[in-house]
Amino acid sequence: QRHDGHSAQEYDPQALWQKDKDHFIHPFTDFSVFKEQGCDLITDSDGIYVQDAHGNRFIDGIAGLWCVNVGHGRREIGEAMAEQATRMAYFSTFNNLSNVPATLLADKLAELAPAHLNHVFYSCGGSAANDATIRLVHYYFNRLGKPAKKRILSRNNAYHGTTYLAATLTGIASNNWEFDTLDHLVTHLSEANCYRRPEGMSETEYCDHLVGEFEATIAEIGADNIAAFIAEPIMGAGGVLVAPKGYHQRMQAVCRANDILYIADEVVTGFGRLGHFFASEAVFDTQPDIINCAKGLSSGYAPLGATLISDELYEVLSTPQGPGGVLSTGFTYSGHPVSCAAALKNIEIIEREGICENVREVGPYLEERLRSLSHHATVGDVRGSHFMMCLENVADKETKALLPVEARVGDRVAFEAQKRGLIIRPVGHLNIVSPPLIWTRDVVDEVVAILDASLSATTESLRADGFL
Ligand code: PMP
Repeated sequence: QRHDGHSAQEYDPQALWQKDKDHFIHPFTDFSVFKEQGCDLITDSDGIYVQDAHGNRFIDGIAGLWCVNVGHGRREIGEAMAEQATRMAYFSTFNNLSNVPATLLADKLAELAPAHLNHVFYSCGGSAANDATIRLVHYYFNRLGKPAKKRILSRNNAYHGTTYLAATLTGIASNNWEFDTLDHLVTHLSEANCYRRPEGMSETEYCDHLVGEFEATIAEIGADNIAAFIAEPIMGAGGVLVAPKGYHQRMQAVCRANDILYIADEVVTGFGRLGHFFASEAVFDTQPDIINCAKGLSSGYAPLGATLISDELYEVLSTPQGPGGVLSTGFTYSGHPVSCAAALKNIEIIEREGICENVREVGPYLEERLRSLSHHATVGDVRGSHFMMCLENVADKETKALLPVEARVGDRVAFEAQKRGLIIRPVGHLNIVSPPLIWTRDVVDEVVAILDASLSATTESLRADGFL
């Protein structure tokens, strides 16, 4: 019996499974597993739940892919999109043309963003937003007569996407295995990993160390050759790494002192995940020159990304010059009316239902309850903030040694959780919990009970297979 009352006859799960396996090249998929097992088809969703083609219901512990911030099945977002799609689904935003939702959304984003960020460049997602940003940053310095300022400083284990340039910004080595990158444009600094910081170093000393590395890298490359520093306020896919206190402010100060732009990639942290529309200023007290967002901007109801640009940069970007005086960049779907209509309704819901307030209230409870799982043999670290959390699984809590890759510990925990009705995300030896922002304390209790049982079962299976 399906939970939504729909007839299971609507789908032929076996036929769909086969078509998917035959024709869909899935992103970030282990084909040795896929070719055997194919995929789980997720067919329905409602609130905090998703459902597969067989009618099994799961609590969504990853908000789709850290994006369905307002939860699933919001009729009013669907209706806003349908209304826009039937009234005027698409028209160009090039050459002095615009549309109502894109205009209203730009105005709304300028209101929500830190005071100096008043200009919006639209793209179709996070990778494209980062890619477009770097082009604009290079253009900006070219226009200022500083064409040597090209290098972007990113960080190891950062995730900024998979278009060519965004993949180069990404610092997760395994993501770029056998892929080429544009190495002349990007240099990676160390990530801020408090759990695995050098032995005997206090958090303050660690912060000094990281800032020192940044300064030394600038001295080596030369500030005249560096355009920008890009960072996620909390590193997401790289392991939900919360930097030491004061880190972002100090990195920003070094940027300012060296005429280097500070770009905050808020694709995950934006739109409520840390309890505010943007985390940069409200949580970390930084004033980036550029903030990029996507995901929670439309809660994943439609693809959308946005680059929020400071007045100072806009001044230069908007000064006409060159062939025809045109800023020659943008996408067919920059400011797509249907996506922007989804985003406007999404933001209205976040404000009307006090979703940021819910995250500020329930978030610390989620942190506390997840930390109570630290007693499990394999849980080396529980970290994160608010609705952006992670468990790091280890073989030995004292030495922090990892289990062998073949143990697939992250997959094991996720598998046990899914058996018990919860989807969380395995990333190597990590498990990420990044739920819709509408979880209540009761849901947190239910989730933690499932994780508790899943971690016990994982320890047992690891022992049975000789990994522990
Ligand atoms: N930046 C960050 C911080 C991300 O987490 C992601 C996606 N997980 C991206 C950029 C890329 O976004 P997209 O997949 O929409 O291109």
